[in-house]
Amino acid sequence: MLIAGALMGFGVIGIGDEKLMWTLIAVQVVIQCIVATVNKMLRRRLEAHQPVQFLFPIFVFLKGLTGALWGLMMLPVMANLGAGPGPLLICITLIVTITISAMLTTAVWSISIAAIAGFFVTLLPQNIYFYDVLGPLPLVVTLVLSPTLIWITRGQSKQVKAALVNELQNERLALYLEDALQHSDYLARHDSLTGLLNRRAFQSKLMELRQDQPDAAISIILIDLDHFKSINDKFGHETGDAVLVSTADIIDSVTRPDDLSARCDEATARWGGEEFIIALVGCPIEAAASVSERLRARIAAQADPRWPDGLSVTGSFGVAIWNHHEELAVGIAQADRAMYQAKISGRNQVELAL
Ligand code: GH3
Ligand code: MG
Ligand code: MG
Repeated sequence: MLIAGALMGFGVIGIGDEKLMWTLIAVQVVIQCIVATVNKMLRRRLEAHQPVQFLFPIFVFLKGLTGALWGLMMLPVMANLGAGPGPLLICITLIVTITISAMLTTAVWSISIAAIAGFFVTLLPQNIYFYDVLGPLPLVVTLVLSPTLIWITRGQSKQVKAALVNELQNERLALYLEDALQHSDYLARHDSLTGLLNRRAFQSKLMELRQDQPDAAISIILIDLDHFKSINDKFGHETGDAVLVSTADIIDSVTRPDDLSARCDEATARWGGEEFIIALVGCPIEAAASVSERLRARIAAQADPRWPDGLSVTGSFGVAIWNHHEELAVGIAQADRAMYQAKISGRNQVELAL
């Protein structure tokens, strides 16, 4: 806009009505400032997802006004159009400016149309009025220019919209893929019935915990529900599933750090059918034994009004220490042996591997 104003100021020196031209340039500058302010307000509202209310029609009207002013700026030089380079410079500057202005706003076509229409409305009467001096050519140019500009900006507008739709679709697709990846990652790491980690995820989480605290003793607690097969046989597989979910919830709540007497990192998983495993990092075996005892009591006391009468659930616990110089399998095998010992000793009890 500044370049256009400077070029026209230069072109008008010495020819036409300089005073009128400078007045029009001044008015144009003021209107452009108002346009910029309204534009800023509009953007702010759109970014804040607020309604734009009457701001948009005002903006379109102002754009029409700037177009009309560009057209009016031909007036001071219209009668001298063929006389020297000054008027021609103004004429070319105006046409280029209105074209660029219309092109820059093609994303919202009504704004382009307003600017072109304003330009056309003020330029056409001048062409008719000065027809005797200028002849038919400027009139034909004006009549051809406006529809051509409208046609070009329409095409541009469609392309911009198509590109925006494409971008939005790509963004939505990317979000959908991210969601799907997160979901499949969750499914790959968790047991679908209880929501606890699965065996593989437990092992890799434990390796991470071990890396964080290489020298720490890690307590392993292995839990096997007692006579679970007979729960299935007596009360049905669905009831068996409900018992597994309820037991997993208890294990999860008891091993959450804020519920642990000894505050330590932990990993909890469904180890197999009716077997669960807990690892407590930096937790001495005595603390792990007391967590196990609390858990054993909670599992034995669990009840659900939806469960059939006569259903009781207990678990046998094996507790061992996985030392940092041993393989994980060694620590788990020790917990497994202790758990087997708990079974032999009458079930529903906690055994420590010594
Ligand atoms: P013990 O006290 O010696 O551990 O006896 P148990 O009956 O618990 O042990 P066993 O290994 O004989 O039986 C385990 C049963 O757990 C057999 C299997 O059908 C059942 N089971 C495994 N996974 C699921 C499951 O996802 N849902 C249900 N409902 N049952 C399961
Ligand atoms: Mg078992
Ligand atoms: Mg069992």
